[in-house]
Amino acid sequence: MSSGTQVKSQVGTEINFERDGIQTGCLSVPYSHDRDAYGYIPVPLMVARNGEGPTVFLSGANHGDEYEGSIAIMHLMRELKLEHLRGRLILIPALNFPAYLNGTRTSPVDGGNLNRLFPGDPNGTPTQMIAHYIETELMPKADYIVDFHAGGTTMDYLPMLFVNRPKDAAASDRTEQLIEAFGAPRVMYMDEIETEVMISSAARKNQTFFATGEFGGKGTVSKEGLAIVERGIRGLLATLGVVPALAPKDRPAPSRRYSFRTENYIFALVPGIFEPTFELGDEVRADDLAGYIHDPYRPWAEPERVLFRANGLAVMKRTLARVDAGTCLGHLAQEENR
Ligand SMILES: [Zn+2]
Repeated sequence: MSSGTQVKSQVGTEINFERDGIQTGCLSVPYSHDRDAYGYIPVPLMVARNGEGPTVFLSGANHGDEYEGSIAIMHLMRELKLEHLRGRLILIPALNFPAYLNGTRTSPVDGGNLNRLFPGDPNGTPTQMIAHYIETELMPKADYIVDFHAGGTTMDYLPMLFVNRPKDAAASDRTEQLIEAFGAPRVMYMDEIETEVMISSAARKNQTFFATGEFGGKGTVSKEGLAIVERGIRGLLATLGVVPALAPKDRPAPSRRYSFRTENYIFALVPGIFEPTFELGDEVRADDLAGYIHDPYRPWAEPERVLFRANGLAVMKRTLARVDAGTCLGHLAQEENR
């Protein structure tokens, strides 16, 4: 082949997305390096199809140290029976597989933060190739995608589903139906958070219904967050008619709704040791104390005081005490009156 840029993905797979049945295998992301000239990085997946119906794409570990989604998807893979399925499921427990194996947010292969690399690059690094494949090959096949996140090693979250605020009545009905089907205790409208480099932007360009969420953190598995994701996936697949047999028995309380603005973040202004004075779930007010930053070089000095900048619910908290100037220490969300 002559030189020149390739626009089609170089990521391959033995899976035939159009075939009925349950298929397991991997995406093969080419990766040529000193220890292996012609090899690839596998990204395991399952594709299950049974006749006509919507395609639902569920993914976890877009960041490698976020686990509730990946575990719930693995449970679903083992439990799924083809005869119960109507339509198609694309299940990828760990989108950034090298990061997942490494237990880190970003890939040890190329430093890639997958959820900051969309729309990706078919000729780029492995993480860029994964982003490009998701946007150009998987998204166009999907009617619905839920990409599950958590706080990772450095943050802890109150479990909450994130959706786009519907733009019209039709979108509103569908969004409400899915929020109710998922049954999360909290829902955040993520309008203020999305940027062009995220998977949510890829979904928007493909006009795929998209939801995400934060379901725990600290680089471990939240029991509560996992239970919400497990129930949410079942509720969603049943309501969409894709796997009616998975319908949960319970009816959870209506989700509380939250919105977001930039003053919700608190940051360290100086380096040091952060001593938080709040817990997840606290209701706080602007100018309330969020914590102290102690100066390790002047331990006798008064610590720097960190104040909240808005009223709201503390939904995210940093897990690590060592901070630098600019480190994000937490954020709030505002409950909406409905
Ligand atoms: Zn994440």
